[in-house]
Amino acid sequence: MSNPINLYDLDFDELTQTITGLGQPKFRARQIWEWLYQRFAADFDQMSNIPKSLREKLGETAVLNTAQIIAAQDSSDGKTKKILTRLPDGQTTETVLMRYNQRRTLCISAQAGCAMGCVFCATGQMGFFRNLTVGEIIAPVLYFAHKLAAEGQHVTNIVMMGMGEPLHNYENTLKAVDRLIDPTGFNLGARKITISTVGLVPAIRRYADEERQTPLAISLHAATDAERDKLIPVNRRWPIAELMAACRYYIEKTGRRITFEWALIAGKNDTTDQAQALGRLVQGMLCHVNLIPLNPTKGYGGSPSSRERVDAFQQALKRYGVSSTVRVRRGIDIQAGCGQLRDRVANR
Ligand code: SAH
Ligand code: SF4
Repeated sequence: MSNPINLYDLDFDELTQTITGLGQPKFRARQIWEWLYQRFAADFDQMSNIPKSLREKLGETAVLNTAQIIAAQDSSDGKTKKILTRLPDGQTTETVLMRYNQRRTLCISAQAGCAMGCVFCATGQMGFFRNLTVGEIIAPVLYFAHKLAAEGQHVTNIVMMGMGEPLHNYENTLKAVDRLIDPTGFNLGARKITISTVGLVPAIRRYADEERQTPLAISLHAATDAERDKLIPVNRRWPIAELMAACRYYIEKTGRRITFEWALIAGKNDTTDQAQALGRLVQGMLCHVNLIPLNPTKGYGGSPSSRERVDAFQQALKRYGVSSTVRVRRGIDIQAGCGQLRDRVANR
């Protein structure tokens, strides 16, 4: 089979064209759509109301999921599960499921690798391979939806905090979001998907102009350019003042609260100076700060801040009226997601 169509890559109109192109009536497209996004069929044979001849035809020309699961791991407490998938060209991506109270949060990827080169990030250290297609972004969601359905559960939240920079793969990321919130399909609430970005200013402004309800998280990690330049190379292109102006623009356009992510690194960005600089920077803004002790990675010598420093940092922010949450680490024994997910996703 040469270059089969990945059905997850198609929107409803494209699917309809494909199905009618096979000489089938339109309503078959709707049935297949439901099998894909509401019943999470894992293969064509499960599509019991589709004639066998069409299922066979589909099997010859299309696939449901191009990714192959090559490893799966459960955390010792059973609450976190990670899968590693291999794409047809050999690229691999990771997805993590986190069970937290009633939440079933998935952390998904937008790219294989990442071009942004943040020094503390395992994905940044490996460099950029390629963008994922829409189908590749959403396939793990449907895989886990299928698994959870068997337990009478469903995916409640998604964070785009796996591999890669979502706004560097803007079109496919937003199409994937649209697919997942489609009321005739997967039907997840727009507010249940968080897009996390390193701070690509033009893309943030473009996103703000779309006035979407899907929340945005900004990986800030430092409040002065001197410090942020060292951690996040793109800061040299779009320094903090420009980033904050884009964040304010986003809030103004959408009326939505913004989240700032901050991985606390001992002696680097966990100082009182940094906390105060952050306090001054975001004081009065419609925002929340997520503090996550650094998850050590092979390619970076930094270590996580001590509990005392984390508390002191949070206290300092409080004096500026800035709300923050400290994420507890979760799934650490399975190196959940690109070595960077942890519990940042637990409360979304
Ligand atoms: N590229 C996007 C989304 C993927 S990274 C972004 O950077 O926002 C998801 C989050 O994990 C980001 O906030 C990122 O800064 C953080 N992160 C990366 N490596 C980490 C590490 N070693 N420890 C803690 N957080 C990390
Ligand atoms: Fe890329 Fe995000 Fe990692 Fe930076 S933190 S290298 S933007 S995945």
